[in-house]
Amino acid sequence: MHNSIIDIEKQALESINKADDSDQLEQLSIKYLGRKGVLTGFLRNISSLPVEERPTAGKDANILKGRLEKVFKNAFLKFESVEDNNYTGIDVTLPGRLTQKGSLHPITQVANEICDIFLRLGFDIAESPEVETDYYNFEALNIPKYHPARDMQDTFYVSENIVLRTHTSPSQPRVMEKTNPPVRIISPGKVFRCDSDVTHTPMFNQVEGLMVDKKISFGDLKGILTTFIHQFFDKQTSLRFRPSFFPFTEPSAEVDIRCVMCKGKGCRICSKTGWLEVLGSGMVHPAVFENVGYDTKKYTGFAFGMGIERLAMLKFGIDDIRKFFENDIRFLRQF
Ligand SMILES: [Zn+2]
Repeated sequence: MHNSIIDIEKQALESINKADDSDQLEQLSIKYLGRKGVLTGFLRNISSLPVEERPTAGKDANILKGRLEKVFKNAFLKFESVEDNNYTGIDVTLPGRLTQKGSLHPITQVANEICDIFLRLGFDIAESPEVETDYYNFEALNIPKYHPARDMQDTFYVSENIVLRTHTSPSQPRVMEKTNPPVRIISPGKVFRCDSDVTHTPMFNQVEGLMVDKKISFGDLKGILTTFIHQFFDKQTSLRFRPSFFPFTEPSAEVDIRCVMCKGKGCRICSKTGWLEVLGSGMVHPAVFENVGYDTKKYTGFAFGMGIERLAMLKFGIDDIRKFFENDIRFLRQF
């Protein structure tokens, strides 16, 4: 074997024997076998040796490399088993690690609360698609093409006949097509409109409600919605039904509640009127029943829809709808 190879081997083995722990061993392994180590350096300088010594020097260096690798491996194993035995177990005096608990988003909480109230009143939950056909979003709800009522909603069109639903109302014809009366459903979900300011976001949440049976009257509508408002806010909350227009209900009414901020005295939130609009409602238009094949002489019904963000803002006293979607953890932690 080449002289200097013999020296390298001798030094390496001596140092390995003297190593006290696996850290020192690691350093030695880098020193002798690393990319910038002694053996690599030797191989790189082979060209400076006399021509006749070069082949054996290269061969010897590679043999030593293999041998040292084995020695290091065994030495590491020895230290590992010793170091394992020095491990004394769990230190029970260390403080525990806290895991952060997640919680439901305020919008989800309010949606769940609304659904729970209607489930107790005998309604079922029915969901329908967020990407909707023009037919279910408009036509089936008595809003034909070029009808001025389409201007009431700033629609996102996916293609000529596909839209992002502008309201949860398409769940009405979808459910009625598949079910014979009686029908009693609520349908929560996301809706989309091309609109954005302090009280509007391009995506928001609604809950739709529908009740159809023989002899359903406006009195039933008032009874159900009054019960809902009293359970969601409190029993003292007074409400009023104000005539309105929706293409898919006739007659239609918007429901106002006595301002929850000023108790009716008049404030900024209620624009000094003392009343807050919270939902839209009405008796299902006969044209909607005809579209789904219901006998309009036999059945009547009512429908209603409300914005979940709006109800959450009133319930929690929040004045900017955008706060719900900024995902500021300091805001969300308050609920
Ligand atoms: Zn007010």
